[in-house]
Amino acid sequence: MNTKNADLSKELKKYFGFSTFKGQQEEIIKNLLEGKDIFVLMPTGGGKSLCYQLPALISEGTAIVVSPLIALMKNQVDAVNGLSSNEGVAHVLNSSLNKTQTKQVFDDIKAGKTKLLYVAPESLIKEEYMEFLRDVKISFVAIDEAHCISEWGHDFRPEYRNLKTIIDKIADVAVIALTATATPKVQDDIQKTLGMSNALVFKESFNRPNLYYEVRPKVNIDKEIVKFVNGHHGKSGIVYCLSRRKVEEFAQLLQVNGINALPYHAGLDQKTRVTNQDRFLMEDADIIVATIAFGMGIDKPDVRFVIHYDIPKSLESYYQETGRAGRDGGEGICLAFYDPKDIEKLEKFLAQKPVSEREIGLQLLNEVVGYAETSMSRRQYILNYFGEQFDPIHGDGAMMCDNSVNPPKLKDATKELKLVLTLVKELEEKFRTKDLISVLVGKENSVTKSYKLESTKHFAIGKNESENYWKTIIRQATVQNFLQKDIETYGVLKLTDKGLKVIAGKDKSPFLIAEDREYDLAQTKADSD
Ligand code: ADP
Repeated sequence: MNTKNADLSKELKKYFGFSTFKGQQEEIIKNLLEGKDIFVLMPTGGGKSLCYQLPALISEGTAIVVSPLIALMKNQVDAVNGLSSNEGVAHVLNSSLNKTQTKQVFDDIKAGKTKLLYVAPESLIKEEYMEFLRDVKISFVAIDEAHCISEWGHDFRPEYRNLKTIIDKIADVAVIALTATATPKVQDDIQKTLGMSNALVFKESFNRPNLYYEVRPKVNIDKEIVKFVNGHHGKSGIVYCLSRRKVEEFAQLLQVNGINALPYHAGLDQKTRVTNQDRFLMEDADIIVATIAFGMGIDKPDVRFVIHYDIPKSLESYYQETGRAGRDGGEGICLAFYDPKDIEKLEKFLAQKPVSEREIGLQLLNEVVGYAETSMSRRQYILNYFGEQFDPIHGDGAMMCDNSVNPPKLKDATKELKLVLTLVKELEEKFRTKDLISVLVGKENSVTKSYKLESTKHFAIGKNESENYWKTIIRQATVQNFLQKDIETYGVLKLTDKGLKVIAGKDKSPFLIAEDREYDLAQTKADSD
């Protein structure tokens, strides 16, 4: 075994020029070479590519690398071929090739020259490719960006779902799946879909100790961001907005304020997009204001802050987007602006989607709300979401978030929670948040009238508190899983088992909410600005 290890290090040096393996690379490679199925979960920059590139280079035959984006494939192929001793060992097979080029690739594979063949899943399905690959020696199959298989991931691609069947038709070889997405749901989905439940799993920590996380209420947001950027003069930063229109408007606003900012979104023409991206990468512009279209494959090491003008649709996307800050290990501030009204807008948008997509979307969104409103360490919240334990006091990067530096005051709202849960039960789980609040504060509307709720004992039962206060209680009760919004009836509040326990007096733990997070109050102020 030792000689084998020594050999692997030699090969590493020979092909990549590195003296040591990073993280678990060596273990992964050893096991793959022994023919085992492997699942790698590693954050971006962890060194995933080498886990299949090195074994491919030293194995007999061709390794098939399934990759979702033609642009990314090209970069990878160029990188491998660019290494001194690797010239011409990696090729792409996809729709961008003409007949002659395709034939050349086939010839190289037959001649045993091609060690790595990058294919898009939709190409792999093609009968002629499948037949050809069935007859040549395949060393193993690598599935890069494996989260594309899962609807719970941040980049679902339907073509990925049939991969297992296609691979089985081509060869009976080991499969290595790799991803930088690590929520337990996605992991489970990938393993099941690829029939890899028995695979060896290598998971590295997703903690980014040098990133600082903060959430601010979306009040005076334009001024806040201008102030923030001016306070970090000359530093590189990304501002993410949800809509193209907002990207354009806000980039202009920054420019008007003397800030060197450029817009980026998929609606801009190709030339402008490339120019703006390059100017940001070359430090000709400090700030890029962008939609999520910006970022895939961007590797600028010294991005000092990532600001979310709008809260993203999932915590997973938030992690990926903020992950673009502080790649060099230096300062990386991740600032998100939160307004529950934005969540309501996203929920409305989801309402038009098919049921399964809607259900997933709402659950993902609920996690975002949980993150935005949590009073716990934000790092702990994110890492728990990825199925990872984190010690908020002693863990690496423990004090690097607003909640840790300046803990919010907590208020015991157990009494209010009980009142809301009991009300939901007594009204037979028929109402949405808005109508429940109307009942609580005693405000008539068409729903209360049609159900004749004004004449019940429940009407105005919580009139001593404001509408916003009740909204916070209900939202928190949902985030903490005492209540859940029904998908079918879109938003009708139902009791969960946890909620039923509280009503029955079987759960006596206090229900705590952050006292100084008056989000709705903040929004009201912003509206009147
Ligand atoms: P990922 O695919 O996980 O995002 P990459 O494969 O792109 O990560 O690797 C990230 C960086 O780490 C690359 O610049 C790569 O050259 C470098 N790298 C990978 N393995 C090693 C190693 N053993 N020693 C030094 N650098 C490495």
